Amino acid sequence: MTTRVWTDIDFERDGKQFGWLYLPHSVTRSGYGNLATAIAVIRNGRGPTALLMAGNHGDEYEGQVVLSRMIRELEPSAIHGRVIIVPTANVAAALAGVRTSPIDEGNLNRAFPGDPNATPTFAMAHYYDSVLFPMADAFIDVHSGGTSMDYLPFASICLSGDPTTDARAKSLLAAFGAPISIVWDAVDLRMAEVAAAKRGVAAVSGEFGGGGTVARGGVAIVRSGIENALRHLGILPANGAKPANSRLMEIPTNDFYVFCPEAGLFEPQAVLGDSVRSSDACGLIHFVDNPAREPVQVRFRADGLVVCRRHPARVERGDCLAHLARDVAA
Ligand code: CA
Repeated sequence: MTTRVWTDIDFERDGKQFGWLYLPHSVTRSGYGNLATAIAVIRNGRGPTALLMAGNHGDEYEGQVVLSRMIRELEPSAIHGRVIIVPTANVAAALAGVRTSPIDEGNLNRAFPGDPNATPTFAMAHYYDSVLFPMADAFIDVHSGGTSMDYLPFASICLSGDPTTDARAKSLLAAFGAPISIVWDAVDLRMAEVAAAKRGVAAVSGEFGGGGTVARGGVAIVRSGIENALRHLGILPANGAKPANSRLMEIPTNDFYVFCPEAGLFEPQAVLGDSVRSSDACGLIHFVDNPAREPVQVRFRADGLVVCRRHPARVERGDCLAHLARDVAA
């Protein structure tokens, strides 16, 4: 099965091109219409290719800001090889400021390897997986906590199980140089970075803020991290700087997550950056519909650093309230 996506971009041409990935999308308003996703290709001769993605989840904004800025600022003369930039990968979600597409409720980061004949989110996942990933030596997918979560900024990788790909991903993660670098254990084959790794692409992702806003610190880490990664790949010239020290952490089991036991109002008792122990207080669930009822005490289930917490106060059973990471033993 081949993609239905078409584009006016020539991926093999030198220079800077800005254009669109057009997915035929026939609706009442526009019978022969297309869903248009922005793409830029900056190329200067043969060399490595980096694919930069944001807006995979539409309400995660730091990457959308940085990659849009890079489209305007990065010139072919500054690079060797090719940089492909897709700043609003799930475009309908990004333009609506929501996590999943309002067209099909599709979560792009749970849609890989995609399907060219399914709804737009799956069709775009298929295009990214079957057309763009095979062009790429490295893939950087910029995330944040979105509307529902807030994160201490970190870069991350998921291990693919292939030693060569994983070694290249670890090198790219170290080169990115975020203050914290995390190796995820929870690998979901439907995620973009995992699909890229399956194709042998060194893939780095990360969470750089959240709460539905643009984290100023996250923007700076994303921009410098991407430039560090491009230097590591030989796409940008080396500047002689040593990679920044990064705190290497892991999220080894589901016990590092805290989930909500019942619906109510969440009062956090720990903040991002706190070091906690198993059974320490995570927060209280209040029942403001029945104020006489005692709140439920929610506790952490592991020792670690609080890197993520729920942002909105209203919660339902099963919501993630927080999660931890721990230092990788030296
Ligand atoms: Ca995300």
